[in-house]
Amino acid sequence: MFRNEITLIGAGLVGCLLSIYLSRRGFSVRIFESRPDMRTHSISAGRSINLSLSERGIHALKEVGLYGNIEKHLIEMPGRMLHDKSGELQYQTYGINPGDVHYSVSRGLLNKILLDAAESEKSVSIRFNEYCTGVNFDAKKFFVRNTTTSKIRAVDFDLLIGTDGAGSSVRQSMIKAQAIRCKHEVLAHGYKELSIPEDLGIAHGMEKNALHIWPRGGFMLIALPNTDNSFTGTLFLPHKGSSSFESLKGDQSILDFFHAQFPDAIPLIPNLTLNFKNNPTGSLGTIRCSDWHVRGKALVIGDAAHAIVPFHGQGMNCGFEDCSVLINLFDKYKDIEELFKAFASQRKPDANAIADMALENYIEMRDAVRNPKFHLLKQIEWLLEKRYSKRFIPRYSMVMFHRIPYAVAKERGEIQSAILSELAESIERVEEVNVDVADQLVEEKLALLGNEVP
Ligand SMILES: Cc1cc2nc3c(=O)[nH]c(=O)nc-3n(C[C@H](O)[C@H](O)[C@H](O)COP(=O)(O)OP(=O)(O)OC[C@H]3O[C@@H](n4cnc5c(N)ncnc54)[C@H](O)[C@@H]3O)c2cc1C
Repeated sequence: MFRNEITLIGAGLVGCLLSIYLSRRGFSVRIFESRPDMRTHSISAGRSINLSLSERGIHALKEVGLYGNIEKHLIEMPGRMLHDKSGELQYQTYGINPGDVHYSVSRGLLNKILLDAAESEKSVSIRFNEYCTGVNFDAKKFFVRNTTTSKIRAVDFDLLIGTDGAGSSVRQSMIKAQAIRCKHEVLAHGYKELSIPEDLGIAHGMEKNALHIWPRGGFMLIALPNTDNSFTGTLFLPHKGSSSFESLKGDQSILDFFHAQFPDAIPLIPNLTLNFKNNPTGSLGTIRCSDWHVRGKALVIGDAAHAIVPFHGQGMNCGFEDCSVLINLFDKYKDIEELFKAFASQRKPDANAIADMALENYIEMRDAVRNPKFHLLKQIEWLLEKRYSKRFIPRYSMVMFHRIPYAVAKERGEIQSAILSELAESIERVEEVNVDVADQLVEEKLALLGNEVP
């Protein structure tokens, strides 16, 4: 039988959303959050300034009735705008259907809307400035340090859910208690945000409704639009090596690098060298765990369970989908340990699949999009999507614009990729595709997974 009170560690994007879902199911929820309240204190919302929100995240927000509050703050991105070294632009649409779009949203605003909505639930309370330092699962106690008084105290819990992000203390405690094993794969590339102020990008002809990419093979600059007509640029670059964060220390080296690689971005970023030096360099990585729960006592979800690299824009979307999947399992299971087990066994293959696809998408964004073959393959994908409707959906679309389980998207994507390579061999234009061969390949290879994409 379920206990009535659930404690969450972390009032970030996933913690707030989960508290709303749980409260609607009749649970009383306490959240302990290490940062001050971002609605009354001027603090960074952490990680990136803006985010891509897509179908999975939207679905979860709709389930709790919050999408209407957020929709007006979204900027539609139906395609990517590629910037080459000479400043030439090439626009690529993401898909062929009107719904094949994702949206740029401010992380801070989204978190604030979620905090308001969580607190407006009668049975949710949020304590700020409370940093969880560790958990004793046997004693069902966790330890919190108040960040204003520095006092540490023990708090009893009945059921604990760690929504405390990539550096999760709850996950660390599970590892320490030998309940789970985790692998942290650190990416050799990091990131730095560089702002393009209000109206400057637009004045220089930047398309507002697009995700901008300056793909340069081994690294890239991207920019997402904000509602105030500014853009947030993010440079992804190796930490070490010849063109790296380590090599770009002095003003001249930064300017030389931008002149050589991103000349059209220089007028967009005032005080480039100052911003470059002052803004922190973030690190990126993938966390894969053997399990996500400790008996029927504690669970981790969102980034705490499966942080991924940001190149598919899915970390938050996946975390929001976690909440929806977990809540639906409350209908099926009466025993909490069984429920946690079912959640982990259903969701881990999906988390691993999106972790892999996010890593692969870095190569697509920074390199493959520059290759004419990539555009031919896209056109063949769309031809097949039109021809076979629900049976052939491009992998990018399955991930971004559908709620097809990530593991299924990955598996079907691999088969589809083989079909595309075969059809694209020795042709240069989509009109040359042999549709009889295409019919046969789709029939033979995709039928293995059933006739319709689930
Ligand atoms: C550069 C970058 C770009 C990204 N872009 C996208 C994107 O476009 N689309 C997308 O879907 N995802 C994106 N992501 C991923 C996304 O940021 C995460 O997946 C998402 O923030 C996860 O939400 P969360 O609530 O699990 O963790 P978080 O957002 O990290 O929230 C964790 C919360 O827990 C609190 N906390 C942490 N430790 C403790 C503790 N010990 N005690 C108490 N509280 C604690 C934190 O203060 C925070 O409030 C991006 C990530 C990065 C780094």
